[in-house]
Amino acid sequence: MSDTVHRTMGQQSGRRSWAEPWKIKMVEPLRMTSHDERVAALAEAGYNTFLLRSDDVYIDLLTDSGTNAMSDRQWAGMMLGDEAYAGSRNYYHLETAIQNYYGYEFVVPTHQGRGAEHLLSQAAIRKGQFVPGNMYFTTTRLHQELAGGTFVDVIVDAAHDPADLSPFKGDVDLEKLERLIAAHGPGEIAYVSLAATVNMAGGQPVSMANVTALHELCRRHGIPLYLDATRLAENAFFIQEREPGYSGKPIAAIVREFCSHTDGAWMSAKKDALVNIGGWLAVRDGTLFEELRNLVVVYEGLHTYGGLAGRDMEAMAIGIAESMQDDHMRSRIGQVRYLAELLEDWGVPMVKPVGGHAIFLDARAFYPQLRQDQFPAQTLAAELYLDTGIRSMERGVVSAGRDPTTGGHNYPKLELTRLTLPRRVYTQAHMDVVAESVKAVYDARASARGLAMVYEPRYLRFFQARFEPIS
Ligand SMILES: *Cc1c(COP(=O)(O)O)cnc(C)c1O
Repeated sequence: MSDTVHRTMGQQSGRRSWAEPWKIKMVEPLRMTSHDERVAALAEAGYNTFLLRSDDVYIDLLTDSGTNAMSDRQWAGMMLGDEAYAGSRNYYHLETAIQNYYGYEFVVPTHQGRGAEHLLSQAAIRKGQFVPGNMYFTTTRLHQELAGGTFVDVIVDAAHDPADLSPFKGDVDLEKLERLIAAHGPGEIAYVSLAATVNMAGGQPVSMANVTALHELCRRHGIPLYLDATRLAENAFFIQEREPGYSGKPIAAIVREFCSHTDGAWMSAKKDALVNIGGWLAVRDGTLFEELRNLVVVYEGLHTYGGLAGRDMEAMAIGIAESMQDDHMRSRIGQVRYLAELLEDWGVPMVKPVGGHAIFLDARAFYPQLRQDQFPAQTLAAELYLDTGIRSMERGVVSAGRDPTTGGHNYPKLELTRLTLPRRVYTQAHMDVVAESVKAVYDARASARGLAMVYEPRYLRFFQARFEPIS
């Protein structure tokens, strides 16, 4: 078919579809289950999707963490692993990739994101200090608390409203931060903990204008600014799309500019960086680096492997470069939006605007008949699994844990169930099945009765808590 004919047909149909900038080379069979099998599996798992066996799951949208499909280049890189205990060449490849793409001088590899959070919290927080941040993240806040710090949420109010359509709901409210600094003095602020995008707010981005102003404010008070760069490439896509002056800039350039406003960053490479395991921490301050490099040998491994195999570091170095490609990111977020549009057409309530890595269903709006301590979002995750074998995750009162002082539940404004899309894994047809299942559960919403928690672990309870249906 000639080019002209092709173009004419396109004009006639009036359609221009997006598609993935890759094709499939290897497939992994999925197991479909019967309704009876799912009823049994869910009861066995204590109505917690984290406790299901993955063999009992059809479409796994629990998380985008470590569930990415690696490219043929990354798999080829795995074969080039240099498994030397010290000075592996793959470490130097990783160091160079982080220096080039993120722009920090000193790099410490870690086994995953929380390893980096642990080291940074131990090195940079003095007991009793405050750590302001743009909404909490589960592991981030816990490591800050274990180091003796107190997390304070300084995100803009819009982030707590699932219907607010502001383009940058991840931004820090600079006045909230100024008030905290004025109340306690800059010496009592360990650092500002900035995440881009903000996972718990629905994958909402931070604007370049906000990080620029935040950096200026921090510098004025002598407070360091550290960045959770776990989904910074996705954040850069939103800046490119929404912020004046950035529409012609490549994702990689936006990432580099964003990082230039911060003093260091950590990353769970299991997200943006398209690997199954890995993380890192990188800073500009040589003295802090000395401390971090000393701590890493206690908790993770030598400073040139940080709990990873050489091959994992190679896959990460290649994945970082792939994650910054504009056509990759367009299709990554295009798939999230495809699913969102189907759900939106059917009036399913969710957090808007839709963020970078997931759809966050608004469980309060699904189940107005349930009190928050009857766990609406956990209930919705259970119902979705029963319907078609789709696995999602609770992001509501269970994830928010308990107040360390009062011991009562933290009651977050957002009570959400997350459908998280792994990168380069599922097809558009899978998205159709997911949307239809959510619709079926939404249509049956009036019959939901909620759950009671019957087992609660001490830390990060959402991972291992068990529930029973309220009869
Ligand atoms: C996943 C995640 C982390 C923790 O990383 P792990 O690799 O799971 O330890 C930290 N911050 C954010 C925003 C995350 O999404």
